[in-house]
Amino acid sequence: MLPVELPGGSQLTAFRTEIRDWLALNLPADLKVPPLRDPTGASGAEFTKRLRWQSILHTGGWAAVHWPTEYGGRGAGLVEHAVFLAECAEAHAPEPANVIGLSMVGPTLIEHGTKAQPACLPLILSGEQMWCQLYSEPDAGSDLGMIRTAATRVNGGWSVSGQKIWCSWAAVADRGMLLARSAPGRLDGLTCFLIDMHAPGVDVRPMRQISGDEHFCEVFLDEVYVPDSQVVGEPGAGWTVATTTLTHERTTAIFARHGATIDAADQLAALLERGPVPEPLRDRAARLWSDAQLLRLTAYRGLSEIRSDNLPAALFIQRLAWGRTNKAVFDLAIDVISEPPLLDQVSPDERADWNKLFLASQGWTIGGGTSEIQRNMLASRVLRMARS
Ligand SMILES: Cc1cc2nc3c(=O)[nH]c(=O)nc-3n(C[C@H](O)[C@H](O)[C@H](O)COP(=O)(O)OP(=O)(O)OC[C@H]3O[C@@H](n4cnc5c(N)ncnc54)[C@H](O)[C@@H]3O)c2cc1C
Repeated sequence: MLPVELPGGSQLTAFRTEIRDWLALNLPADLKVPPLRDPTGASGAEFTKRLRWQSILHTGGWAAVHWPTEYGGRGAGLVEHAVFLAECAEAHAPEPANVIGLSMVGPTLIEHGTKAQPACLPLILSGEQMWCQLYSEPDAGSDLGMIRTAATRVNGGWSVSGQKIWCSWAAVADRGMLLARSAPGRLDGLTCFLIDMHAPGVDVRPMRQISGDEHFCEVFLDEVYVPDSQVVGEPGAGWTVATTTLTHERTTAIFARHGATIDAADQLAALLERGPVPEPLRDRAARLWSDAQLLRLTAYRGLSEIRSDNLPAALFIQRLAWGRTNKAVFDLAIDVISEPPLLDQVSPDERADWNKLFLASQGWTIGGGTSEIQRNMLASRVLRMARS
């Protein structure tokens, strides 16, 4: 990784050294993610390792660098958070198991939760309570104003019925942050609820993806009772709450993924050393390697430009650029290993690793908002362009 100067100068250098020293002592060798393996494994031994890693992070006080100290975080800023994630990636640490809890639910509850709701934050930090996000539906993905899952008033709370889809890690989740329709209309008729994934009426069905993984699930809700105490913000204010979750998903949650893309670009460069690959492929690889380095630099630039409530363009751009660059690295890798001279030099296991990540890479131009939606966000929220 290229060295980069960030605001914070020598303090940040000391912070980076502290992280490196801690990782050297606390990241067990058997938890390190080998090259070209997904650091976000959703099941089996990979998931167990991620749970173990989260527990180690929690014990060391590193589970949520950017959460305020009163909520169990380290009280550091987003720059420090990004530096921490970059150091973890360079040390080949897996991603902690409770990604949605740490990067999306926690910050949302800190901003919008009632006095009682942050009680679950210690469990999110320790990984004892796993969370998922229940926003998308078969006919409501990019446009959450189309949500039809219905929340109707019952004694002391709400009865929720409907269907959610593409819910990452829902099969291992204990709780979910759900958007449902509590009144007619579009975004203004939505309410955000915290639901118990083990409650009667919740049916979670894992979906097998083309890569063979079961990363996400369909979730069917049949008259699920949700007490009033589990409404986040006011009834009807679901979209305001969701905006916070989605902003974290599209910006800070992605920092963790830059490392895997940079690593894959390094692996691709190493692959090209094995044989006289045609010049155009080498050129593409060199450009992509540079693009991968730029992801992290663009994120740092965005972070260093945060001055007010408005998130800088660079934070949105890094999300768009990450999905595109990540996909392009694996597209090129498939081209490279499909042609002589590397066709015969790459082992079946290596080929399987590249293929699997290639198949998964398309999804990351969609999850958290498609590339088209990211461009719309840039146009409206950053460039302040009028809607057509
Ligand atoms: C890896 C992954 C993880 C995910 N995890 C979760 C999760 O944990 N929880 C959850 O709730 N959801 C999750 N999702 C769902 C994800 O948020 C949606 O897939 C995404 O928002 C797109 O919605 P859609 O699939 O319904 O596509 P659609 O909204 O139907 O879009 C179809 C196509 O139309 C384009 N399009 C739509 N509207 C516009 C527009 N206004 N302008 C230009 N183009 C437009 C889109 O870009 C896309 O190409 C995940 C998805 C993936 C791939």
